[in-house]
Amino acid sequence: MSTPQYVLKVSYGNDSIALIQWAHESGLDGVVCLYNDTGWARQDWMERVGMGEQLAQRYGFETARTTSIGLANLVRKKSGWPRSGMQFCTEHLKILPTIAWLDERDPERRSINMIGVRREESEKRATFPAEIEDDPASGGRLTRCPLVHMKEAERNALVARAGFDVLPHRSKECSPCINANKTDIRHLKEPDIAKVEAIERELGNTSLGKPRVMFRPAKHMSALGIRDIVRWAKSPPGKYAKEQGVFELEESHSGSGCDSGLCGG
Ligand code: SF4
Repeated sequence: MSTPQYVLKVSYGNDSIALIQWAHESGLDGVVCLYNDTGWARQDWMERVGMGEQLAQRYGFETARTTSIGLANLVRKKSGWPRSGMQFCTEHLKILPTIAWLDERDPERRSINMIGVRREESEKRATFPAEIEDDPASGGRLTRCPLVHMKEAERNALVARAGFDVLPHRSKECSPCINANKTDIRHLKEPDIAKVEAIERELGNTSLGKPRVMFRPAKHMSALGIRDIVRWAKSPPGKYAKEQGVFELEESHSGSGCDSGLCGG
């Protein structure tokens, strides 16, 4: 297999589809679209991945996927859930498998890596660089972010030209993501709630007797465990707090977001 000139890191959300369309319209050659299978996607997400791969292949791009231990086994191995600030999921499910793939296909580190980050997306991404030389997340290769200044309307136009509808949510490559906000949690489907519940039960408590739950109670009105977290997310503002007898302001958690630029797009 030839060395790729460009490696597009994609999760097949809106920004990924826009990035593929941008690469096509820019006439790029030697493109590989690389997806990290985290083993934690929403049930129907692999269908979306297949559609995104078909689009890329229609444009003459190669598509590839990495595999890994998967989020569930990673959590078991670490005896705990990743947290913002202790975000080992991105490292183990995405960065390390990507570097292993790159080292095999591009041992001389000539490829240019691309991600679909846009500064408009969040405060954390507001100063995201357009280019990262010797990017550690690409194993020391160059990473470019060609959509970094792009506004939503322009992004949506690219998605439309690719023949896709704009999704009303971020990529569901991990469902739920550890950075899920109230809206994300409100829309969780039963299989994803059940898979979190099973692992929370399996992990039990820490040596200090604290339950090893995915979402921190302190940040979610003391909601403890995924079923409670979903109840919190579905409750009208203030309601959950009253039911629980917790007299603090309803937390306006909007998800702390990822700053790696590798998740959600
Ligand atoms: S999408 Fe969320 S859960 Fe998945 S690797 Fe990224 S931060 Fe972790």
